[in-house]
Amino acid sequence: MTVRPVRLWPDPVLTGVAAPVGDVTPEVRALARDMFDTMYAAPGRGLAAPQVGVPLRLFVMEAGWKAGAPTPLVFIDPVIAEAAPARATGPEGCLSLPGIMADVERAARVRVVWTDAEGQPQDRWFDGFEAVCIQHEADHLDGILTLDRIDPAEATRLRPLIGT
Ligand code: ZN
Repeated sequence: MTVRPVRLWPDPVLTGVAAPVGDVTPEVRALARDMFDTMYAAPGRGLAAPQVGVPLRLFVMEAGWKAGAPTPLVFIDPVIAEAAPARATGPEGCLSLPGIMADVERAARVRVVWTDAEGQPQDRWFDGFEAVCIQHEADHLDGILTLDRIDPAEATRLRPLIGT
């Protein structure tokens, strides 16, 4: 079990665009395992590779573990291929922005195409918390944080609260 340090804003790794992973090597699988260990320890329900200082397009999600129904998913080179027109707005925390909850508007349902930890292609729709979490984590791969998704005046008000 390896818990890696979570990078906090304004670490520049959080605001860069991550590079494609490509082949799912043993190193990539080890990274994903460490990311689950780090996410469970935090605790959180999603974690993107840039948050542990690795600028690659990979994130992990475990939406159910706090409710006792684990469904760990590894998303490698994910693409949000389609988004339903319905929108959902809710408070989002972020392990890289401790102390901050920001109300972010997202698509209520998204179709995601990705490669799993076995190197297999995957393609399916997600809704509810999973849809929101996926959009949050996919944003991390493009250097976008919740504070970039809200009204700039509200972001200015929240930013001094990071780490409190
Ligand atoms: Zn986050």
